Amino acid sequence: MALDDRHLFDEEQLLFRDSYRGFLAQHVTPYHAQWEQDGLVDRSVWTEAGKQGFLGFAMPEEYGGGGVRDFRYNTVLGEETAKAGASGIGFSLHNDVVAPYLADLCTDEQKARWLPAFCSGELITAIAMTEPGTGSDLQGIRTTAVRDGGDWVLNGSKTFITNGINADLVLVVARTDPDAGSAGFSLFGVERGMPGFERGRNLDKVGMHAQDTAELSFTDVRVPAANLIGTEGQGFFHLMNNLPQERLSIAVVAVAVMEQVLAETVQYCQDRKAFGKPIGSFQHNRFLLAELATETTAARILVDRCVTELNAGTLTIPDAAKAKWWTTELQVRLVDRCLQLHGGYGFMNEFSVAKAFTDSRVQTIYGGTTEIMKEIVGRSLGV
Ligand SMILES: Cc1cc2nc3c(=O)[nH]c(=O)nc-3n(C[C@H](O)[C@H](O)[C@H](O)COP(=O)(O)OP(=O)(O)OC[C@H]3O[C@@H](n4cnc5c(N)ncnc54)[C@H](O)[C@@H]3O)c2cc1C
Repeated sequence: MALDDRHLFDEEQLLFRDSYRGFLAQHVTPYHAQWEQDGLVDRSVWTEAGKQGFLGFAMPEEYGGGGVRDFRYNTVLGEETAKAGASGIGFSLHNDVVAPYLADLCTDEQKARWLPAFCSGELITAIAMTEPGTGSDLQGIRTTAVRDGGDWVLNGSKTFITNGINADLVLVVARTDPDAGSAGFSLFGVERGMPGFERGRNLDKVGMHAQDTAELSFTDVRVPAANLIGTEGQGFFHLMNNLPQERLSIAVVAVAVMEQVLAETVQYCQDRKAFGKPIGSFQHNRFLLAELATETTAARILVDRCVTELNAGTLTIPDAAKAKWWTTELQVRLVDRCLQLHGGYGFMNEFSVAKAFTDSRVQTIYGGTTEIMKEIVGRSLGV
């Protein structure tokens, strides 16, 4: 069996992949260019995805979910979204990043309130950790929540928040005890329409133009105590538990983009001629493609193994960090080299490699930068 043959999926996920491809072809691809101009996707794509079972499939059935917690489904969704170049739809943020917090930390009352609409696509979610003054150093968060009677009073601002404009429920990380160090943070469910919760600019980015990435501000927002998510003071630890899945979700996209861009580039190198020969036949280019293909295979094996470990509950924080930094750095390099192989056409937006180039760049930054991932791996080595 070739190393590129995948062992990961069974018949169920193959069917799921087919039906999600159909969804993308009908409800996403024809509209994506318009959404890129608009700076966000139409909300109707969320409700259509909900109707077809592509949101909250890991949530319990009693709340409208699919009742199957198996990251292979998330993997299929992330891969197909990436291969379609549909970088605007924030389903992975919703399904891969936010869902575990809601499924694992919410009370039954909160689940009954939020999960049905989470699964139907009527409630779009976001998570807000980063602030204008701090990103990598989460302990530097300055947003505060102070208890006042039956409410928490929230003040502060967040930036770079994915789904920030469309989100109806934002998981906000705030400091609830200034003297407790890492045990002084808590998570809150802040809902659209709460007085004092404002959205700032939909940020103008290098790539991912259809993705709404926004600034959020909170001025004396009264968040009911019933919207505390998880345990007071344990916010930081809740984040640490969930970040490996977020990082794996990013690595899944990295490998899918690499496979897609590499396949298109190999084809281009067979078709395009210079000096009377296909450009792929020059030894430099053939060796470059050979190197990129080898690295992509290695990345594929690594990420599939991480998915298996995550499902088994054994994916460690350092291993998720290894997969995140290594695959995303590789993605950025591979896309850059593939653009080069396209010559001037690679710089034209009508070629998908050009879009992949701008969309890819953020991968080594969000979800924890390459440098922070290496800190995690390095510390795990005892250095
Ligand atoms: C498109 C996009 C979407 C995002 N979505 C979200 C979201 O939904 N929710 C959310 O909360 N955040 C989100 N982010 C924020 C993202 O997670 C942060 O930008 C990232 O964690 C880095 O933080 P920073 O920008 O403050 O950079 P900084 O922390 O200021 O880092 C600047 C540079 O210094 C380096 N550095 C920092 N500390 C160290 C160190 N100890 N050793 C070596 N180098 C170091 C970094 O690696 C980086 O190169 C998003 C960002 C982008 C661009």
